[in-house]
Amino acid sequence: MILCQNVAELKNSVAKFKQEGKSIGLVPTMGALHEGHASLIKASHAENDITIVSVFVNPTQFGPNEDYAAYPRTLEKDCTVAQQAGADIVFAPKKEDLYPHEDMTWVEVTGDITKVLCGRSRPIHFRGVTTVITKLFNLAQPDRAYFGLKDAQQTQVLQRMVEDLFFNVELRIMPIVREADGLAKSSRNVYLSPQERKAALILSRSLKHAHDLYMQGERNTAVLLQAVTKMIESEPLSNIDYIEMYRLPGLLSVDETISGKVLLAVAVKFGTTRLIDNVVLGDE
Ligand code: AMP
Repeated sequence: MILCQNVAELKNSVAKFKQEGKSIGLVPTMGALHEGHASLIKASHAENDITIVSVFVNPTQFGPNEDYAAYPRTLEKDCTVAQQAGADIVFAPKKEDLYPHEDMTWVEVTGDITKVLCGRSRPIHFRGVTTVITKLFNLAQPDRAYFGLKDAQQTQVLQRMVEDLFFNVELRIMPIVREADGLAKSSRNVYLSPQERKAALILSRSLKHAHDLYMQGERNTAVLLQAVTKMIESEPLSNIDYIEMYRLPGLLSVDETISGKVLLAVAVKFGTTRLIDNVVLGDE
C-alpha cells in the first residue's frame, strides 16, 4: 500500500491506473479509522481493482465552535487499518494541497435537503462536504465511491450533487457498523467519558424500539417520534439537538402516516460530544 501525501503524486498514480484500464473505488474519510470505515474499504476492495482511501480532516465542514482542532488525527494507525481492509493508496493531503487559495470555490447543494437535520445546527457543514468531495472525485476519478448510512443526510446530499452535476461515479451506501452493545461506531466516541458512553446507548436502543413498533404495524409519525423522544429524554445526560423523520430519497417532509421509506434520525449531545444515529423504516 502506498501513502500519498500530495496532489501531484495522486494524479500520477490515477493516470497510470486509468491507462491500465483499472476500476477505482474511493473511500473518503476524516481518519481515526474504525470498523465502520473498514467496512467501506472492504466493500470497495471487493468491487474495484484499486481502492483509494482519503484521510483528510476537512476544515470547511466544521463550524467556528466545532471540534476541528480537537478531531483525532492518527495517520499511522489509519494506514494499518486501511491496508488490512484492502486499500491500495491512502491519500492524506495537507490543508494547503486541497485548499491552495484563500478565496474559495464552493460547491453547494441548496434547498431543504441541506437545511433540515444536521443542516440546521451546522449551517455551513454540507457546503464543506460537497466542496471537498468534488475535489476528491476530480482527483481520484473513481468509478464508485463509498459512504456510510451512519451519515444518512450526507449520502442524500451527495446523491443530489452527483445527479445535478452529472458526476460519472456510482455512490455505494453501506450499512451502519455498531459496537457489540449497539452504539454506532464513530471517530467521536473517543471523546465520551465512561458515563456518557453508557448513556449514549439510549440512541440505538430508542431507534430499535421505534423499528420494533414499526414492524408491529405502527405507522403514525407522531407516535414513533414520541416514543424515541420519551426514551432519549429519560436519559439525564442527553441533550437533544433533533429527533426527526423524513421521506427517502430526498429528505422530503413526512405525512401524518408513514408510507414508503423514511429516515428516522437523531442528533444528541452527551457532554460536549454530539452523536448522530438513525434507522431507515420501510426498507424491509
Ligand atoms: P468520517 O471519517 O466520519 O467522515 O466518515 C467517513 C465515512 O465513513 C462516511 O461515509 C461515514 O458515513 C462512514 N462511517 C462512519 N462511521 C460509520 C459506521 N459506524 N458505519 C458505517 N459507516 C461509517
